[in-house]
Amino acid sequence: MSATHVAPQAPGAPAPESEALFARARRTVPGGVNSPVRAFRAVGGTPRFMDRGQGPYLHDVDGREYVDLICSWGPMILGHAHPAVRDAVVAAVGQGTSFGTPTLNEVLLAEEIVERVAPVEQVRLVSSGTEATMSAIRLARGFTGRTKVVKFAGCYHGHVDALLASAGSGVATFALPDTPGVTGAQAGDTIVLPYNDLEAVRRAFEAESDRIACVITEASPGNMGVVPPAPGFTAGLEELCREHGALLISDEVMTGFRLSRAGWFGREGVAADLFTFGKVMGGGFPAAAFGGRADVMAHLAPEGPVYQAGTLSGNPVATAAGLATLRLCTEEVYEHLERAATVLTGAIAEALDRVGVAHQVQRSGNMFSVFFAAAPVTDFASAKASETFRYNAFFHAMLDQGVYLPPSALESWFLSAAHDDRALDRVIAALPAAAEAAASATAG
Ligand SMILES: *Cc1c(COP(=O)(O)O)cnc(C)c1O
Repeated sequence: MSATHVAPQAPGAPAPESEALFARARRTVPGGVNSPVRAFRAVGGTPRFMDRGQGPYLHDVDGREYVDLICSWGPMILGHAHPAVRDAVVAAVGQGTSFGTPTLNEVLLAEEIVERVAPVEQVRLVSSGTEATMSAIRLARGFTGRTKVVKFAGCYHGHVDALLASAGSGVATFALPDTPGVTGAQAGDTIVLPYNDLEAVRRAFEAESDRIACVITEASPGNMGVVPPAPGFTAGLEELCREHGALLISDEVMTGFRLSRAGWFGREGVAADLFTFGKVMGGGFPAAAFGGRADVMAHLAPEGPVYQAGTLSGNPVATAAGLATLRLCTEEVYEHLERAATVLTGAIAEALDRVGVAHQVQRSGNMFSVFFAAAPVTDFASAKASETFRYNAFFHAMLDQGVYLPPSALESWFLSAAHDDRALDRVIAALPAAAEAAASATAG
């Protein structure tokens, strides 16, 4: 092929092995992926198939190495293939992988969670964050005898039918007005309100006081990009719920055991009635949980009438990975994550300042994300109004330089304990070119 005859190129560097695998995957898997955001639809280009992770790095099937700033969307808080986690998993596998009976590790993991998050007196283990929020809402309805659920636009709680109204994450990226397959009845019991708007919650309670079973909120949202709660917002929710006999569900699937030993609760200290956990507590395996007040949890079968179950709930391999991970999440780990986030957010802001593009680097502890916007983003409307086309250019410039960011502007970035100076320096070195790409990007 001559230099004057260049084929049109998708954004991003060539990735022939990933391209071939993606084409093959699309024949047997819808869209070629098992979770929509992985398909790169928001940013364009070919998703990279990874075949190996080590510490802060991912390796794709084309032999390229990336600094990983997704960490499997949060769980890999210790980095990839941590030796102690791997050893715990190998040992567990050697003992048999599933029994369908109670096991010691389930009790140990429950104790670890209860010890860390004070308002959680009892927990039930499940296999995904979606199951955790679905079960928590069923329990809240069973406990209160009420039907309605308040959620906030831009907050994602997994793909629970009733919660797929104005959700963030992949749903936000694809801008589905609503999801076909969710019935009017399922969505009809959901009240969607703007995030950080306590007045709207107050009005909803005035209108529907004795019908609202619960308010569910991301403890500190990361699924519309990082949009921290305004001071007093979460405490205001707790007060309104108490006043009206509704339960507050703090969804800590993303923030739990990531933002501190006790997650977001460890930072803000608002005692919700129920909490949901996932991601970090599974250590890269399918383990999640919901828990809270003992009098509420007592309504769950077999103690109470609210049914909830799972063949692989509390799976011995998953609980071994989760326990090993949580036990290694020491204060030093959280301090390291906090410092690394400070270094990176500072470098990102500096690179974007230098090219003069309007931006907000928003942060909640060690979670952060970049909005191309002139004013701070406080809710889903302002998140969606940001210039996401600039992020897409930024993303591809980083990817080309071996830095793997979330393939959507409306997602959090994640760090791990394995992100050392060498890894952070590689990210920082890639920023000027990415900032240029963001500044010169045009819409459409
Ligand atoms: C990831 C996430 C979920 C869903 O968890 P899955 O394990 O993907 O089902 C729920 N809530 C929040 C806040 C999340 O970030």
